[in-house]
Amino acid sequence: MSTLARFLPLVIATATAFAAGVGYDNTPQIPGQKWKVHDKNRPNPPIVEPGESFSHQAPAPADAVVLFDGKDLSKWKGGKDGKAPWKVENGYFEVVKGTGDIQTQEKFKDFQLHFEWSAPNPPKGESQGRGNSGLFLHGLYEVQVLDVYNNKTYADGQAGGLYGMWPPLHNAMKKPGQWNTYDVIFEGPLFDTEGKVTRKASVTVLHNGVALHHKQEFNGPSGHQNTPKYFKYDGTGPIRLQDHGDPVRFRNIWIRPLGEYDQPEK
Ligand code: MG
Repeated sequence: MSTLARFLPLVIATATAFAAGVGYDNTPQIPGQKWKVHDKNRPNPPIVEPGESFSHQAPAPADAVVLFDGKDLSKWKGGKDGKAPWKVENGYFEVVKGTGDIQTQEKFKDFQLHFEWSAPNPPKGESQGRGNSGLFLHGLYEVQVLDVYNNKTYADGQAGGLYGMWPPLHNAMKKPGQWNTYDVIFEGPLFDTEGKVTRKASVTVLHNGVALHHKQEFNGPSGHQNTPKYFKYDGTGPIRLQDHGDPVRFRNIWIRPLGEYDQPEK
């Protein structure tokens, strides 16, 4: 056997390993999908360069709860003394590594959320180690925050991905240091008296004006390398932001209840 023939299988195996993306092949199957959680073979979404601005610096409607107005984190809690310990300056706030997640004092049911974030510049780290944070709806369901500008990672961990479940339809990431907007419409889960889910949580997400999901369902709370199941709660929850160790910045966050049809005029 020639040397080449002997090593050919190894060469092919190595080439295949490189052709496959970043991610996992030893994780559980995502319920109802052909992919595994963080599947390294799942295709990354196509890149769409977003417009110059979309809802950037959008003023809040009159009935919105302003969760951050550029001045302080009084609407948030976390840290040892209960006061959200992240840094506030120049109209934004920033993750302080190692201080833990922060979440809103108030809980919300079904809502519309406006949210702005910016990845660290210059970028540092790669894959899930670059500009990672997370927007947890009801404190449980993660819309990923990650710098995916020239940064390869697994599909269901992309910016705007429903972490471990659904990649975004597109990659509409702005450059590190530039501001991204997420405009989110979220409906929480409903449960029957036995605690069975009668309506899954679902979300619509626009990233810099590009639709990433439309009324896409969560299989349950978000997890890493696993597929957590729904558990019964009162159908309300906070907005939680993740301390993943990277100095991601946030500004102009507001939320308003979705409301219902046929309500009387105020
Ligand atoms: Mg995250």
